[in-house]
Amino acid sequence: MSDKTFEKTNLNRVKRMPDRGKYDAETIYPIIDESLICHVGFVDHGRAIVIPTILARDGDKLLLHGSSKSRMMMHIAAGNEISITVTHLDGLVLARSSMHHSMNYRSAVIFGTGTIIDESEAKMRALGIFTDKLIPGRWDDARKPNPIEEKATMICEIDIESASAKIRTGPPGDDDEDYALDVWAGILPMRQIFGDLIEDPLLKDGVQVPKYLEDYKNSRQ
Ligand SMILES: Cc1cc2nc3c(=O)[nH]c(=O)nc-3n(C[C@H](O)[C@H](O)[C@H](O)COP(=O)(O)OP(=O)(O)OC[C@H]3O[C@@H](n4cnc5c(N)ncnc54)[C@H](O)[C@@H]3O)c2cc1C
Repeated sequence: MSDKTFEKTNLNRVKRMPDRGKYDAETIYPIIDESLICHVGFVDHGRAIVIPTILARDGDKLLLHGSSKSRMMMHIAAGNEISITVTHLDGLVLARSSMHHSMNYRSAVIFGTGTIIDESEAKMRALGIFTDKLIPGRWDDARKPNPIEEKATMICEIDIESASAKIRTGPPGDDDEDYALDVWAGILPMRQIFGDLIEDPLLKDGVQVPKYLEDYKNSRQ
């Protein structure tokens, strides 16, 4: 894990509840790694656009991929600034007063610019990182992209110029006088889990569920 800490600037400084703000890679990178998706924000012709997409990390760089014709990918490839957000919802925070209801969460906001990975070997390596991010072990098992598929896919690596995390944990914070109320208060925890595998109706007879997939499924149930 990187020992990097991002400088606090006007761009990434958490202003409301600043004690919840974190700027070190050791906090921010696991938030990124645990999420399969992110939202990419950019300005196109003066309009703010936010697009959901898959995210992977390669050391201190983030990887985004998409069709070579995707507006988002072309925008990044042109060297424009983007912002990426990742959010994990960990629980609903039920206070005695409606005002103090909240959520427990871990979120990250990242700022950077990207460059296209064009060289074939580097591109294949990045596609491998992507595939294994979805399901560890899948890249070695699945058929690799052929030259036409490789050409149709654009991969960009994003240099993280600035980043922040914001984390809320713990019970609700009610007003002193409200602790005497007969209203239940506490946390309703939330987490994402995998369901049971659903076999493709066209699956060839005799193909078994691989162990890496069974293990991955069981890791989040
Ligand atoms: C699940 C969830 C629910 C939320 N619900 C609400 C809500 O209902 N209303 C509300 O006002 N806020 C909500 N927030 C908090 C919200 O994300 C902002 O933190 C908040 O609007 C205050 O921003 P600010 O004015 O301090 O900073 P801004 O001026 O908006 O941002 C300054 C910089 O602070 C950093 N930053 C701000 N927020 C975050 C964050 N969440 N994660 C990482 N970095 C961040 C970024 O680098 C940003 O560029 C929620 C957050 C989460 C994750």
